[in-house]
Amino acid sequence: ASAEIGVIGLGVMGANLALNIADHGFDVAVYNRTEERTREFAAGAGELSSKIIPTGSLEEFVAAIRPPRPVIIMIKAGDPVDQQIAALKPLLENNDIIIDAGNANFRDTMRRFEELKDTGLTFIGMGVSGGEEGARFGPSIMVGGTEASWNRVSDVINAISAKFNDEPCAAWLGENGAGHFVKTIHNGIEYADMQMIAEIYGIMRDGMDMKAPEMAGVFDAWNSGPLDSFLVEITSKVLATGDDKTGKPLVDVILDAAGQKGTGRWSAIESQQMAVPASAIEAAVGARSLSAMTGLRAEAEELLGRPDLGRFEVGGNAAALLEQALLAGKVAAYAQGFAVMAAASKEFGWNLPMPIIAKIWRAGCIIRSRFLDEISEAFTKTPDVANLVMTPEFSRIVKETDTALRTVVAEAVRKGLPVPALSSAVAYFDQLRRARGTANLIQAQRDFFGAHGFERIDGKGENHGPWNMGN
Ligand code: NDP
Repeated sequence: ASAEIGVIGLGVMGANLALNIADHGFDVAVYNRTEERTREFAAGAGELSSKIIPTGSLEEFVAAIRPPRPVIIMIKAGDPVDQQIAALKPLLENNDIIIDAGNANFRDTMRRFEELKDTGLTFIGMGVSGGEEGARFGPSIMVGGTEASWNRVSDVINAISAKFNDEPCAAWLGENGAGHFVKTIHNGIEYADMQMIAEIYGIMRDGMDMKAPEMAGVFDAWNSGPLDSFLVEITSKVLATGDDKTGKPLVDVILDAAGQKGTGRWSAIESQQMAVPASAIEAAVGARSLSAMTGLRAEAEELLGRPDLGRFEVGGNAAALLEQALLAGKVAAYAQGFAVMAAASKEFGWNLPMPIIAKIWRAGCIIRSRFLDEISEAFTKTPDVANLVMTPEFSRIVKETDTALRTVVAEAVRKGLPVPALSSAVAYFDQLRRARGTANLIQAQRDFFGAHGFERIDGKGENHGPWNMGN
């Protein structure tokens, strides 16, 4: 047994992760359900093949790793992971570590922890972000499990992770499901970020008659300002790419139906479970779902008519306003995502380190951006802040971008351009900063029909109304 670690699953992520591990000088044993994939992988490993031990059975795989064995499972999330753990369990020994690195629902991770408790095996739930490229050259890695188990694998994990100013973008975030929970919220924020970018693109395309190459230039310019981020960068590159078959911009020939695998939806569901609003993430998930209903949308356009209400006009520098609006929307999405994590941290006793989460998202992952450096700083300076927008740095951004966000959303709505995520941000901020809201009426209604009672603002007297039920 010579391998320091093993990887099960040689799909897109597992194969690249194994190469990344080998690239950092660790001997790695690999196994894949379909053996042909293992053979192809080993054959294509080039100069790294001396560090890779391909195996054809789980027995051979386990025998190839030096105990105590860290085993990374990187396969399709859900039942396959349970089946894989069940198959591995009888072959592993005390102190071996099973690391589920796929996009698990953190509630499955919590259950697997419970199931593996008292078996002598250790379990780690590890979120990995960065896609194919990240897996190969440095992803952002969010780890949940016991601190002791993290200490045993941290050398390898830190080595293969992305680096930001030489700091590894990997960290132990808390017990059991902490890593997979944070990965889920990462993906929820990713959904919101992508949706808001797509809404701005829609305004430019349908309201301003801009063509893809021109928009590419705008996004490229934004990538040198406060919006500097991987998603803005690739948006510019996508918009600049042509289609070989038609000569048109490639984006113009792509079907407008977004796919989703569930992590965005889980974020929205968990935010509801925690009773913490994440309306930007919800709007983004909903928008993807509606986008996929291509037939219904075509029929609706026919039946209801598509509003053609004229050009998007804001007077002055539209690009600058759009940039500011996008920044404001991003603040809402991140503030909501971090607030959901804070609530979950309390509920599950994780003690999630917010500044560290922001730090390990600065490189490697899909939402990496300059912005995260500022978030990390804000949470470091104000650790107990109730919401990101209450920090001095971010309250300033909210105030500075307020007019732009409001103007862009109002004009988009006026011209019939859909902006579900950006408009959710306006509503979120407006409700948040209104000390006296309108739920007094809701409380009265609840008391009227259900005798639910209410609190008075003066704290005095009756907490039921003398409602006239007869009329
Ligand atoms: P792929 O579709 O490329 O590969 C799937 C892998 O899972 C294959 O190795 C496949 O084996 C294996 N597999 C599927 N079902 C079973 C089963 N029942 N038992 C054993 N093995 C099985 O997936 P990815 O590499 O893209 O994704 C792997 C995980 O990583 C997922 O959880 C995904 O959500 C997550 N992830 C993916 C990212 C991405 O950008 N692609 C980013 C971050 C996380 P076989 O060859 O035999 O079919």
